[in-house]
Amino acid sequence: MSKRRSQILDEMGLGPRWRLRVPPPAGGPAVALGDAPSSAAASAAAPAPAPAPTPTPAPTPTPTPTPTPTPAPTPATATAPTTATTITTTTAPVTTTGADRIAGVMRMDWPLLAETVAGCTVCGLARSRNCTVFGVGDRRASWLLVGEGPGAEEDARGEPFVGQSGRLLDNMLAAMGMKRGEDVFIANIVKCRPPDNRVPTAAEVASCEPYLHRQIELVRPKVIIALGKTAAVTLLGKEQSIASMRGKVFRYRDTPLIVTYHPAYLLRSLAEKAKAWEDLCFARARVREWAAGEDAGIVQS
Ligand code: SF4
Repeated sequence: MSKRRSQILDEMGLGPRWRLRVPPPAGGPAVALGDAPSSAAASAAAPAPAPAPTPTPAPTPTPTPTPTPTPAPTPATATAPTTATTITTTTAPVTTTGADRIAGVMRMDWPLLAETVAGCTVCGLARSRNCTVFGVGDRRASWLLVGEGPGAEEDARGEPFVGQSGRLLDNMLAAMGMKRGEDVFIANIVKCRPPDNRVPTAAEVASCEPYLHRQIELVRPKVIIALGKTAAVTLLGKEQSIASMRGKVFRYRDTPLIVTYHPAYLLRSLAEKAKAWEDLCFARARVREWAAGEDAGIVQS
């Protein structure tokens, strides 16, 4: 190869392909010019110890080989060795219908339900919350107290009914010889705080309701106490005033349900405190009757 041609090929980056790196062994296969470099060739390209000098036979005139026409360089993709194609199966995002989601929630155990609520972004309340408020208490409780939704303190601490209204509720329970966490479970209709403590919308309630339904199924309480109108209307499925629902036993699916005022309302309307106390005493009397096997005249919701 002429020096000029070698320079041109070097400038094209093809020089190493054409440079004979090792002398062909005597009688061995010739290294074909233009062979694609292989790992073996690459290792051969490393500096090798100088071969021991061997006597050079007298040159025998041999015909000069005719140079093979040089193929035009082709794109690397055309000459790249064929490799097995790896097919990556991607999993499309799971889209569930409302019915699928509800059915899934209804199969959850406590740990999975709590984990699901903690990461839930199903409705818009997820955007403004600090903490989800799953519920707290005895997961085998006889009494299940249900409020509307978390307030500012609950949102900050992740526990329902803390702060002033929570202290009032604890005092009312204590007056009946009960305590949160002991045969009492406390939850809310929605698990995330509505901004500015507004009433949750119907869509937010509908999104969150399956979690409460599953909690009720898992707790299997003897009685549900609906604290306030949102809880009562949501669980009973019909619009009524608290005043018209007090002093009656309704049924949420198979569980008796009694309605009273929300503690936050009682803090603003101290005159109603006595009514709430009446309601809790009414509930306690019914629970005792049911335990004794007496018919308490349940009203079908
Ligand atoms: S309110 Fe309920 S449904 Fe909405 S994001 Fe929170 S946990 Fe999910």
